[in-house]
Amino acid sequence: MTASTDTTRYARIAVQRGFDRHPEGLVYSIPASLHSVGLGDHVTVPLGRGNASVDGVVVGFGGSELLGARLTASRIKPIACVDSTIDPIPAIVIRLAQWISSYYCAPIGVTMAGITPSAVRKGIGRKSHIAVDLAQAPPTTTRIHPKRQAVIDALAHRDPSTRPVDIDVLRAECDLATHAPILALIKSGHLEATHRSSVQARWRESIVEDARAWTPTIEQQSVIESVSGALREGFSQHLLFGVTGSGKTEVYLRLAEQVLMMGKSVLYLVPEISLTPQTGGRIIARLPKQRMAILHSGLTAAQRHEQWIAAAQPGSKIVIGARSAVFAPVADGELGLIIVDEEHDSSYKQDQAPRYHGRDVAIRRAQLSACPILLGSATPSLESWFNATTRGVSRLHQLTHRAPGLRTPRVEIVDFRREIVLHRDRRVHLIGPTLEVALRQAFAAGGQAIILLNRRGYANWIACPDQSCGWMMQCDHCEAGMVVHHDSSTGSKERFTRCHHCHAEQKVPTRCPRCAKAVTIFGLGTQRIEEELNRLFPDLASQGKFARVDSDSMSKASDFHDTLGRFARGDLRLMVGTQMIAKGLDFPNVQVVGVISADTALNLPDFRASERTFQLVSQVSGRCGRSAQDGRAIIQTFQPDAEPIVAAARQDFVGFATRELAARHRFGLPPIHRLARAIIRHENRSEAQRIAAHLRAQLVSLPEARDVVIREPVPCPIARISDRWRIQIEILAATPAQLQQLLAAARSQAIVVPGEVLAVDVDPVALL
Ligand SMILES: [Zn+2]
Ligand SMILES: [Zn+2]
Repeated sequence: MTASTDTTRYARIAVQRGFDRHPEGLVYSIPASLHSVGLGDHVTVPLGRGNASVDGVVVGFGGSELLGARLTASRIKPIACVDSTIDPIPAIVIRLAQWISSYYCAPIGVTMAGITPSAVRKGIGRKSHIAVDLAQAPPTTTRIHPKRQAVIDALAHRDPSTRPVDIDVLRAECDLATHAPILALIKSGHLEATHRSSVQARWRESIVEDARAWTPTIEQQSVIESVSGALREGFSQHLLFGVTGSGKTEVYLRLAEQVLMMGKSVLYLVPEISLTPQTGGRIIARLPKQRMAILHSGLTAAQRHEQWIAAAQPGSKIVIGARSAVFAPVADGELGLIIVDEEHDSSYKQDQAPRYHGRDVAIRRAQLSACPILLGSATPSLESWFNATTRGVSRLHQLTHRAPGLRTPRVEIVDFRREIVLHRDRRVHLIGPTLEVALRQAFAAGGQAIILLNRRGYANWIACPDQSCGWMMQCDHCEAGMVVHHDSSTGSKERFTRCHHCHAEQKVPTRCPRCAKAVTIFGLGTQRIEEELNRLFPDLASQGKFARVDSDSMSKASDFHDTLGRFARGDLRLMVGTQMIAKGLDFPNVQVVGVISADTALNLPDFRASERTFQLVSQVSGRCGRSAQDGRAIIQTFQPDAEPIVAAARQDFVGFATRELAARHRFGLPPIHRLARAIIRHENRSEAQRIAAHLRAQLVSLPEARDVVIREPVPCPIARISDRWRIQIEILAATPAQLQQLLAAARSQAIVVPGEVLAVDVDPVALL
């Protein structure tokens, strides 16, 4: 058969392996038996010399033109089979994946694999949960088997607010070996079954929630009207800049309700949702009867699959989730609005391939879906601010006042250098006198407090006290210091050191390995603050009214939910933790918020250090004053004059953003220019250098590099992680198109082949 008479149909398949030689997918023929295979179908194909069976997704079709010059028809293998038990991926999600693959330099197979939860690909937990309740009008049967009657009695004795009950819970309660008696009662009409998401149930139970719909303020109303006017007009981009406590969620909910009434669906993204259960609880409480799907990393595999199926069901619905929910299988044409809450949050950026930014992918999805997108934040990213105020691609809406009944927090900057002097004893105190007094007053008045220190562990420096020796403990595998941790699980207070990059652990040395002097341990960490608070407030500690919240103490999302639930009920008076507690929490009784060291992030070698410090200080200060009571935020810092800290204390986002954008402009940095970062990783340092130099030379030689700045290779700020040396090349372009053209050319000529050695990060958010 020659190519001209070849009538075979071919398909492009994204296989879940990291090949980048075929960025658009591998070509397979479609056997006659599988002629009905469709776009987005899950298939199995033979791969490689051994014809190993691998899973993939159909991402395109065509005739012999797909073969191009390099492939011959006789060597093309056929698709082996189609898995019709898995819902196909909607065409719009495939187009999104193709865009990601090209924009973020990620193989299409890796991208598709990142989009579909593995539980869905593997078919885990396909059965959804059943909840049962007494039937409204049960049949008047004369006799019921005693075992079944016991089930009815158990339900009847329950408080109505705890019904319907999960079928497994009921089975355990009635001590039944199987579901059979319950199912029989459903069949006979004595019980009613509903499919209920266990995820939603969990949220309803764990967080005390206020489901009231507030009457919108004039400001809120004007934003609602303005965005709702755009709901039927295709794609438009909106930025809602509203100070903390200004009621952005109310705006989102009102708009979501309107979209649902139009018979369309809403995609509602929040930062890592397991960390923002209050927002989740509020949405669920407000929109209870609507169809809802929730997608986030805190779910079990079975729950993920169940929620994925719920999102794929036709009909208007709301899909809530973290970053990856942007790929929810909502059918083409069904989406009416996308909301991205806390759009500045760095958890929207995925730090492994495909290195996409959830907010930017959401904007792309809104374009493809021809629907509006609303980004919201009290501290917008400079990217979004620039888009709204300078580039004019986004409409700006503002909420300048806190909602009625809320006070503006009083933010005080405390010069920590001066506070240290006030202490008479020689101990190092991390909680200065100002903060200590404020905490005592708050507790005496029955109030609660939140304390932030954005660093885990106990102390982050282990060093020789002798400066002429200069030894400092480093990880054996990384160019980074080890962090001292207390093993709190055993209560033995045993200490060890851990590397926060490769997680290697070691004993805490007592003596310097070079000169044998006793080592000094210093620096800050949440465990050390916990210890100090235990000493300052022994009564709270002994009554268990105080909790540490960081990823060491909260290993599961449910731990965090439980802790927040205890705080909401007032069982806890004080929470100390990392940025986990700076996000979106809303507790009316919080009278004091303390920041131990506002400069922790300020001196990192990253051009976003100022922006991040501003965001953190503003966001955490916004956690107090959420009622008629006064709220005080006390910001301890060694750099009381640092611009981002001063601006955050004054709640002056606009001033900060204007100055910071001017500085970015001067240095040609994002968002004015586009940045991509190529990171070369190799165990051998000189090999890493050689590869980097070669890569740069090849990039510079491309005609597409003419108007692009390709910097010389330099070691990354963390020069080695997990035994691999890291060298970066920064690429800066005036427009996204220039950057994309260069990367596309480099990829098609196999100059850039992302994989183990080379990682490409387009629009990076962290530069360490
Ligand atoms: Zn390490
Ligand atoms: Zn020494």
